[in-house]
Amino acid sequence: MKSWLLSVQQQLSRQVLSNKLPHALLFSGVSGAGQEELARWLINVLLCQTVFNEDKMAQQSVIQACGYCKTCQLFSSDSYPDHLTIVNDKATIGVDSIRKLSQFFEKTAHIGTAKSALIHHADTMTVSAANALLKTLEEPTSESFIILTTDSSDRLLPTIISRCQQIEIRPPVGEKLLLEYSKQGDDAFVNLSHLNELTDENSALAFTDFRTQVEQYLSAYEHRTEILTTLVDRREGFRWLEKVLVDLMREQWGWQTTERKSGQAIAVNKQQLWQIYKLVQGASTKLKTLVQVNRQFLSEKLLADIGLVVKISTKK
Ligand SMILES: [Zn+2]
Repeated sequence: MKSWLLSVQQQLSRQVLSNKLPHALLFSGVSGAGQEELARWLINVLLCQTVFNEDKMAQQSVIQACGYCKTCQLFSSDSYPDHLTIVNDKATIGVDSIRKLSQFFEKTAHIGTAKSALIHHADTMTVSAANALLKTLEEPTSESFIILTTDSSDRLLPTIISRCQQIEIRPPVGEKLLLEYSKQGDDAFVNLSHLNELTDENSALAFTDFRTQVEQYLSAYEHRTEILTTLVDRREGFRWLEKVLVDLMREQWGWQTTERKSGQAIAVNKQQLWQIYKLVQGASTKLKTLVQVNRQFLSEKLLADIGLVVKISTKK
């Protein structure tokens, strides 16, 4: 668990122990702040059959699921029948998923008494999905818990937010953040938007690969397909592209940044880099502000536009 989640865990533990946990909670924060792991911890605590051991609880400020009961075992292998996880990190969560959730709560629990659902990236719900969820939030069944996570709570309907207890997770910034991940402390420009790459090794590796691919794209028009896949499939794809470009610009101005592994010189000059950066920013803004935007088309067009700026031949 990330160290900064402790105070939130303590608060939620007190609520659980005093039976004051609401039916619906919203965990928000920047990407990588830990909303997903916090949600899994809380749900496991709520479902575990042996966690409510009175004298154990008296000393602990943070409750923990036992980890060995039948419920905990099934939950850890994602096969607990009284829990439903809804996730769609590619595009949107549609109304069908939310209908499934309502039906799920209508049935009685198979094993314990509590039922739970987790909606990751709740901000990607379509309007009709969000409206369907509102109904479920308004008519909670007993012993049911719905937890929503998001890294863009400003894109959630206010009516959804108002029906949840919202917990905003605030990771440390600046030097404190670097201290948490001292191995990455060489990047002078690290900030909260890079939290995912700092805290998750797979993300870090994927980002490093992506950086190399973009650098080679700018030099030799290679890896178009891989870059396109990242832009289309990963939520952070566009931000990553911005970060790579910013790093390259800093490098050209002789500013300190993380070391570049490929070692290749970049074939584009400062002016071209700046033009490319503006293109990426423009596409990013479209992605954030337009409701019906075709991510695939937008990404393909962006890569083609970048190619035009670099004026590299497209014969490959
Ligand atoms: Zn357990």
